[in-house]
Order: sequence, then C-alpha cells, then structure tokens
Amino acid sequence: MSKTMRRNAYELMSDEELERAIATLERQVDDIRAERLSLDMARGKPSPAQTALSRPMLDLVNSTASLSDGDAIVDNYGTPEGLPSARALAAEILGVKAENVVVSGSSSLNLMHDLVAHAFTNGVAGAEPFYRQGDVIWLCPSPGYDRHFKITEDLGIKNVVVPMREDGPDMDLVQRLVEDDPKVKGIWCVPKYANPTGVTYSDEVVRRFAALRPAACDFRIYWDNAYAVHCFGEKDDVLLNVFDALAEADADNLVYEFGSTAKMTFPSSGIAFVAAGDEDIKRVRAAFAVERVSSEKFSQLAHPRFLKNLAGVKAHMAKHAKIVGPRFALVEQKLTDGLAQLGVAHWSHPHGGYFVSFEGQEGSAKRTVALMAELGVKLTSAGATYPYGKDPADSNIRIAPTYPSLDDLRKALDVFVVAVKLVSAQLARESRA
Ligand code: PLP
Repeated sequence: MSKTMRRNAYELMSDEELERAIATLERQVDDIRAERLSLDMARGKPSPAQTALSRPMLDLVNSTASLSDGDAIVDNYGTPEGLPSARALAAEILGVKAENVVVSGSSSLNLMHDLVAHAFTNGVAGAEPFYRQGDVIWLCPSPGYDRHFKITEDLGIKNVVVPMREDGPDMDLVQRLVEDDPKVKGIWCVPKYANPTGVTYSDEVVRRFAALRPAACDFRIYWDNAYAVHCFGEKDDVLLNVFDALAEADADNLVYEFGSTAKMTFPSSGIAFVAAGDEDIKRVRAAFAVERVSSEKFSQLAHPRFLKNLAGVKAHMAKHAKIVGPRFALVEQKLTDGLAQLGVAHWSHPHGGYFVSFEGQEGSAKRTVALMAELGVKLTSAGATYPYGKDPADSNIRIAPTYPSLDDLRKALDVFVVAVKLVSAQLARESRA
C-alpha cells in the first residue's frame, strides 16, 4: 500500500468551493438514498459462481464409492489425525511432511481456537496453563483479522497491537516484546495475502520469526496460511516456508501453521489442517484426542479425490482467479478513478487473498461505514481490523469484493466513492471551524 498521497483537494479549496462541493455530494447522497439499495461488501466469502466450481466433488463420495483410504476406515471411528490422502494433500499445500499434519473438521478457525483454549486450560509443552499464569499477552499485527483477535479476547488474553508494515509486522517490536516479556505467549500471523492488507511477509520477516528466542517457553507463532494458494493476479507472491526457516535457524516447535480449503471448495464444508514441529504435533494430537474420537471423514475423502495434489489445487484455484480477479480489478479502477486525485485515501493493491485494505483520513472510517449503511451498503464495521474493535486512527476500512456480483460491486463502489468524498469534505470543513 503506497502511502504517498497528493495534498487533500478539499483542504485546498476556498470556503465557497468547499461548500459547493459538499452541496453537490449531499445531493448525490440523497439520490442514492432514494434508490433503497441493499448491497453487501462486508465479509470475505466466495461468490456462488466460485462455490459452484466444486460441486462435482459432491459426486465423488456416494453410496457406490469406495470408502477406503490407505489403511484407514472411512465410515467408522478412528484415524483422528485425518485420512492419509487428506494429510498428504494438506502437507503439499503447506509444504511440510504429512506426519507433521493433522486434518480435522472444516474450519481452521476452530483449530486455532482449540489450540489457544487448550493452552489456556492445559498449557503448552508442559508449562502451566495460561489461566494459572496471571496476565497473558498476545500480539496482533494490525490491521488484521477480527476473528483471530476475538479468540484471544474471548479468553481474557490481552491483545496488543503490532503495526503492519509493507513486508509484514514490525519485527523490531515483535522481537523486543517476545524476547523480553515472558507474558507474551502468542502472535497471530497471516503470512500470505494477509487479511486485510494483502501483504505477503518478506523472506527477512519470515527468517526473523524463525530466529525468535522467546522469553516464554510456551510462546507459539500462530501462522494462519489461509491464503497460501489464493493468487488472482498474474504473479503469485512467494512466501518463504516457515519450517525451512526454522530449520535454518536451528529452531523447532515454535510455529503452529494452519490452513483450510474453505476458499478452495466450500467455506461450510472444506477440510482444515494444522502443522507443527515433531514434538508439538504429538501434543496437538494428544490434545485433540480428548475431544474427538474421529473427525468427519467423507469430506476428507472427497477433497483429495477432487483436488488430487498441489498441481490440482493450483489448476482449481486458477478457475477461482478468473472469477475473483475482475472484482479486484474493478475495485482498483473505481477507487483510482474516483479518489486517486483527491489525496484523501490510499489502499492496498493485493495479488491474492480476499480483501482490499482502505485507509481514509484519520477520523473518517466510522463515519464512512455508517453513511454506507444508511445508503444500503453493508461494510465490515469500522475498527474491526484492530483488537477490541478500536482502530486508533479510525481510518481503516476492509473491502471484501468477492461475494457480490460484478454489477452489485460496481454499484457498491460508486456509493463508497461518494461516501468517502462527502466524509472527507465534511472533515475539511470541520477542521476550519
Ligand atoms: N483465516 C483467515 C486469515 C481468514 O481470513 C479466514 C476467513 O476469512 C479464516 C481463517 C477462516 O478459515 P476457516 O473457514 O478455515 O475457519
């Protein structure tokens, strides 16, 4: 996200020019209001056209299909670590060994919650449970993913903001906090096409993560590689494999890596997985064994039959890219045409993932999102990309362009541009009062 901006056009106007601009924008807002729109750019969901791509998978596990997978029994209890074919597929996607992977359930967020909750009640690697340790701190690169922050917030863990840079989190701050303070037990990371900034961590950032020497032996990096294969542009960003970086740094049992096929096949019915170092994965399996005799396995059987391997995943994701790419191109075009000359905002230009991160003026995000709601366009709440819903600058808005049709998205973006302009012009007027 380039932060070099022109000077604010509204601030440069004379009082009369500014009043005229505001009156024009207010008329446009009234016209939009009269349209009684009902549009949604709030959550990062695949569109119906995307989920339709995976419907053939539903035919692969039926009453006549073979239900064997290696030596696993698919239609009975057992294999809590996941079917061999599903683990092999997940391992290929994450670039790790299958024995270091557990496949379980359909939601990676569930797995993250399970592991944080287990750390809270039972501890990590033999250490005291968090609940007995007093204050526990979690690092939250922000803007970031609201549901991550909610997991730790919900357990009473203190979420602390770490600023996101163009190549990943501020690693000087991360290193200082992790290496100096034993109360710091975890960090949320989305290392590729981050939600919402679209940033892919640089090799240097990944290496610095791998080289961390935490003050707490029960500190872990929660490496949520949700968008590992979700490029929609011409060139896929390359993320250094964090386990390779760990090996280089002669470290181990520092990272839990998560992923799922939620945005490859079906968000409701994908397969979710976690990978970890040799000792950690044994402990993950033991922790999960308390709550699961077996995971749902028909979906685990269907996924590798449908996607086959990493090459199959990539071919499938290229079909998603054809649907998703034009939506992101439209966002870029509408924001550029509508706002680039005004010096009131900047935004991310991601090559993959599900979001565009929009930075308006300080103090503008809540007002813009509220105005959009009034005009019938739902956006993610302002502040959601920061812990506790508090964006200190009140400037960040997450745009999720995948779900609406192109026509709806076009309309929603036109409304957004008018809303941003009006709020910016009003802020310019208020700053003169
Ligand atoms: N992780 C990130 C970074 C996400 O953006 C999302 C969904 O938006 C998820 C995880 C949810 O994944 P799952 O459906 O596997 O729980």
